[in-house]
Order: sequence, then structure tokens, then C-alpha cells
Amino acid sequence: MTITKQNSALSRFSSVLDAKGVLTSAPDMEGYLREWRGKYNGQAAAVLRPRSVSDVVEIVKIANQEQVALVPQGGNTGLVGGQIAFDAERQFVVNLSRLNAVRDIDPIGYTITTEAGVILQNIQNAADEVDRLFPLSLGSEGSCQIGGNLSSNAGGTGVLAYGNARDLVLGIEAVLPNGDIYNGLNRLKKNNTGYDLKNLFIGAEGTLGFITAAVLKLFPKPRGQQAAFLACRDLNAVASFYTRAQSLAGQMITTFEVIPRIGIEFLTKHLDGARDPLETPAPWYVFVELSSGQSNDHADQLMMSLLQSGMENDEITDGTIAASQSQRQYFWHLRQELSTCQKLEGGSIKHDVAVPVANLPAFIQKTLDAVHAFMPECRPVPFGHWGDGNIHFNITQPRGMDKDAFLNLWDDFNDIVHGVTLSYGGSISAEHGIGVMKREILTKVKDPVALDLMQKLKTTLDPNGIMNPGKVL
Ligand code: FAD
Repeated sequence: MTITKQNSALSRFSSVLDAKGVLTSAPDMEGYLREWRGKYNGQAAAVLRPRSVSDVVEIVKIANQEQVALVPQGGNTGLVGGQIAFDAERQFVVNLSRLNAVRDIDPIGYTITTEAGVILQNIQNAADEVDRLFPLSLGSEGSCQIGGNLSSNAGGTGVLAYGNARDLVLGIEAVLPNGDIYNGLNRLKKNNTGYDLKNLFIGAEGTLGFITAAVLKLFPKPRGQQAAFLACRDLNAVASFYTRAQSLAGQMITTFEVIPRIGIEFLTKHLDGARDPLETPAPWYVFVELSSGQSNDHADQLMMSLLQSGMENDEITDGTIAASQSQRQYFWHLRQELSTCQKLEGGSIKHDVAVPVANLPAFIQKTLDAVHAFMPECRPVPFGHWGDGNIHFNITQPRGMDKDAFLNLWDDFNDIVHGVTLSYGGSISAEHGIGVMKREILTKVKDPVALDLMQKLKTTLDPNGIMNPGKVL
């Protein structure tokens, strides 16, 4: 038998990990190689599942010696293919889900220290148990893990009030590509002792090392919340209402999302029990949530006056305020299930773009015009985080068109949507990252000095190129 790099590495990985730590059969590996939409179907020599930080250190050392590559993976919910391995000979998926301990929770200092593999929802629940809030919130929160959230600098629906994942971190522990452990589990708010190294790893999509643990910020739990679904005649009305809501409610607005009519139609068609939230259809809907440090009544009163003011100024044509907490949850359910329902309408070409908030109406209208000029029957569903300037400009295939024929136009639609985005000073990746999906595009749109600096950092930290090759750079 020929001893290849791959099986020599594999036998060494097997010698340091336990029986559950190495998966090699196709059925065992399948769930780690395929992403949820089925867009990326990967290949790997094996899936490794370390139990501890020292296991991760051993894996990294062996990978350097055997010249094989490692693809970090958390909950495998990433949308740009960053967590998928694409080489059955030289790449090993390293899934961190067994590093799943909450190491410490400090309600007085408002921090929680967790390992990388803790599922986001479990962190939210742990905070809730001590009467605190961990505000990161995504549609995938029941599966994604904090290591993946930080590595992709996730956004979600709470960014407007609390910031991106990056803003919620005080400290990081990471295993570097040479096997050293960077112990940066800082719990201090103030610590000006040199470069901010944690931010090297946050948003690096696993290209600079493994995040193994983090100190996260907690917040006071809101004492009251209220949510509403509001109808707007056009995008300028949404923009004007957003500005008004900001000046009336400021930081109490914890969510301000926009949904087009077609999104509501997909929801009522595909989601069990879903009803139109308002009696009369409208071209655009706003889903807004207010959080109060005082009470539900306080949030309720403010929501009433927001709605009244929006109607008096002709920004809101209709609206419904949640009559109960369960109706508020139902509104959230509608928002969170939008992507799933869109998937049931056939092929969807996705864009995760951001522009300055003031440019949103012009940007959305110009992009709608441009994609319809290219394919009149396509069905754009631009929705998302208005308050962050972040729109998921997804385009559903025309009715009756062959799905693959439509998806073959992915690059053409990308060029159109990204072209308009850039013309408004925007970003081609607001919250999902670069992964493999946008690697080529990044080389065309990123400042060359920034790209060069990124490459130099990568080469300095990972001279053997073992960490997530082919991703980002
Ligand atoms: P993975 O998908 O496993 O990995 C993501 C990236 O991080 C990969 O590059 C991987 O190599 C790297 N990585 C993972 N763990 C580590 C680690 N410990 N150390 C180093 N690198 C690591 N994203 C948003 O930002 N906002 C949203 O609103 C949002 N909504 C979503 C809704 C749905 C239904 C789905 C399926 C996805 C959504 N996403 C959203 C995308 C995705 O959930 C996020 O990117 C999430 O942060 C990924 O976490 P994960 O644990 O699944 O990471």
C-alpha cells in the first residue's frame, strides 16, 4: 500500500482524537460536507471533531507537518461556502461542535465566556437565565455556533441597537496556525495595551486560525417589547418613517426590517397557518420592534404614537400592533421564515449588500429596474435590515422557468446588483462574508492596498497555508 500524505495525516489525527472524533464514511460525513441550500457539496479526507482546545492544537501541528489543510466549521449554516471543504485528498473539516461549554457567566460584569461550539440559542438562553440579554439574533440561531458567528462577523436583526457580532466581543481565545494558543480572553471594557488582536480573528472566516472561546458582552434584559407590521406606499415613505422613528424612539428601536409585497405572498402561500398581517395589500411592509427598559405598556404607548405620527405624515397607510406576546412571536416567525418560503418558489439568486441608509430608496428602485430590464419575468424579493442599510436583494426565478437555467445566470445578476451597489458607495457583502462565493468578486472591488495587507497578514500567520485555503483570499 502506498502511504500518502492524506492517510498518514489521517492515522496521526486518529491517534490523538477519540473514536467519535474522526469520521471517514460517506454517510457520517454527509451532513458536514453539504450546506443547507445544497449550493455547495464538498469533499474531504475526513471530518475531525476535537473535544478540547488541546485537541485543536494537536490537529494544527499535525496539519503543518503533513502539509494538509483544515477547514474550520461550526453549525454549517454559512451562506458563502466558507465552512465547506473541497478536496478529498488534502482537506479535513474540523467541526468545533464538541467544544460546547459555557465556561463562565458574570451577570455583574455583564459577560459570558463560552467555547466556540456553543449554539447561539443556548447562549441567549444562558443569558436569559441570569436576567440578561445576549442580543445577537439570526434565523439560524438554533443551529449556528458562536465560533461561526464570530468568524463570519454575523449581523442579523439586532444590529441596529446592539451592533454586529464583532461589537459584542470583549475577548477571544484562538489556536493560531502554528499551534500556539492566543489567550486573549479579556473581560475588561478598558484595556489599551497594544493592537486589538481579537479583531484579526473576528470576520476572518477561519483563514487565520481557530477561535476556540470568547468573552461576550451581555446587556440588560428589556422589561417590555412591542412589535408592529406596517404598510407603506413606497420606499420614500419607508425612509421617511425610519428617520421619524429614529428621532422619536432612538435606541428603543431594536428592529426595523423591510419586506416587499411578494415576500408576504410567499409566506401566506407556503408557511403553515400564515395569514396576511394586514387587510389591504401594500407594496412595502415594515416590521418594527421596540424594546423598553420599563414595561410592555411603555413600549406599547411609544409604538402607538409612532404609528399615529407615521399615519399623520402619510408615511404609513395601515398597520397592526401585536395584541399579545404570542402575536409578537408570530410576527417574528413571519420575518424569520421568509428565506425558507422563498426557497419553495424555485431558484433564488442571492445578494447580501449594504449601502448608506440615505441611499436605500434610490438603490432599491434602480436595482429593481436593472434586473427587470435584464429579465422582465424575474421576481425580486429585496428584504432585510433597513436600519443597517443591509438588503438581501434576492431574485426568485420566473414562474415555469427551468431552475438550473435560471441559476446559471447567477454571475450576470451579481454583476447587475453589485454594479448598482458599488455606484452607491456600498458593500458586496454586508453580513455573510466572502467564503468561496465572493472571492473572485473581492479581487475586483476591494482596495488593492487593503487586499495586499490582508495577504501579508495571511502569509505571516499561516505560512504553510493550512487554514481554510481558497476562502476569502
Ligand atoms: P459555519 O457556517 O460553520 O462557518 C462560517 C465560517 O466561519 C466559515 O468560514 C468557517 O470556516 C468559519 N468558522 C466556523 N467556526 C469557526 C471557528 N471556531 N474558528 C474559526 N473559523 C470558524 N447570517 C447573518 O449574518 N445574518 C443573518 O440574519 C443570517 N440569517 C440566516 C438565516 C438562515 C436561515 C441561515 C441558514 C443562515 C443565516 N445566516 C445569517 C448565515 C449564517 O447563519 C451565519 O453566517 C452564521 O454566523 C454562521 O455560523 P455557523 O456556526 O453555522 O458557521
